[in-house]
Amino acid sequence: MKAVVYEGPRQVSVKDVPDARIERPTDVLVRITSANICGSDLHMYEGRTDFEPGRWFGHENLGQVVEIGTGVDKVQVGDWVVVPFNISCGHCKNCERQLTNYCLTAQPEPKMAGAAYGFADMGPYGGGQAELLRVPWGDFNCLRLGEDAEQRQTDYVMLADIFPTGYHATEMAGVQPGDQTVIYGAGPVGLMAALSATIRGASKVMIVDRHPDRLRLAESIGAIAIDDSKVDPVQAVLDETMGLGADNGCECVGCQAHEPDGHEQPNLTMNRLVASVRFTGKIGNVGVFVPQGPGAGDELAKQGKLAFDYGMFWFKGQHIGTGQAPVKKYNRQLRDLIAAGKAEPSFIVSHELPLDRAPEAYEHFDKRDEGWTKAVLHP
Ligand code: NAD
Ligand code: ZN
Repeated sequence: MKAVVYEGPRQVSVKDVPDARIERPTDVLVRITSANICGSDLHMYEGRTDFEPGRWFGHENLGQVVEIGTGVDKVQVGDWVVVPFNISCGHCKNCERQLTNYCLTAQPEPKMAGAAYGFADMGPYGGGQAELLRVPWGDFNCLRLGEDAEQRQTDYVMLADIFPTGYHATEMAGVQPGDQTVIYGAGPVGLMAALSATIRGASKVMIVDRHPDRLRLAESIGAIAIDDSKVDPVQAVLDETMGLGADNGCECVGCQAHEPDGHEQPNLTMNRLVASVRFTGKIGNVGVFVPQGPGAGDELAKQGKLAFDYGMFWFKGQHIGTGQAPVKKYNRQLRDLIAAGKAEPSFIVSHELPLDRAPEAYEHFDKRDEGWTKAVLHP
């Protein structure tokens, strides 16, 4: 089958890899029809991780079931499904507590938890930027979709990761009706956090970035766009909140945070969040801080260390939640909001491309080129 294969830093190619197939009785085999490129793929693409050349990408996947193992009894051949990026068994200590992002069974390394498709350090699983995907524990890991699935793929595919991830940021930040919420990063994840804050009833959603196209998308769903290449974003948030600071904040950038001039400064968004959020406010951090890797930012980042203003964070009595999103905890409700026409996450999609054009999509998305907000590949 064809897949988007990692060759080395900033090099991908579309080539033949062994067909995904049923390996265990609980597996489901999906013919992938939509697979997104994610900001998380860029950590591997840029060589910040130890993702091995020859492996293939893709953790935001949707498609149609073509085969099921003998132990599968809910999912059926022909079903349209979206697949949470977390691979989880459903019955370990963490999965039973809805922490499918830290499944203890799917991750083969005994000292680690959590697994994903086509990901560094998250198990040996193949990705879905390919024609076929093997879904382990298929009954647990496939979310079935309604009859409108095929027509509305660009909405439903966001349930594999970024819509639940944005929602998770607002959950960890404790966004409640009437709150004033600030989001750092207007990439796909930050835009999904803005949509989620709106769904949860925030009275004011402020979003910080410097790309005009991404800020325009944020405004299209009613958020206040703050361009940090033009204004001091912390002051802008204080001005919007009568000097008190936002009730809560979401970090949706991660270790690639940089100044508008391009200088990489991984601690920038955390420091600004601590300064932008009020005393006792909560912060939800879903932007990834890659533990370590040869290509990771400055010396501290290379060691997996981040120095942020913990003293002020402590003084203000703030709280923080971190980590990968437990997609399954939210995706059913978010699916039903999409089905009911109450959420349309596809507003961020800028490009729909055949698998063959993945290399150019990676290149443009990695440079955050104007107009490249979210690319959906159709194998
Ligand atoms: P992205 O990396 O394109 O988005 C990041 C955005 O942040 C860009 O628009 C960039 O201009 C902006 N930015 C950079 N520096 C900034 C700063 N100092 N202040 C404000 N904005 C700044 O792509 P994405 O897909 O939105 O991913 C964002 C992050 O979320 C990545 O780290 C990704 O790995 C992570 N992620 C986490 C999870 C999870 O489960 N926790 C899931 C998906 C993605
Ligand atoms: Zn993703």
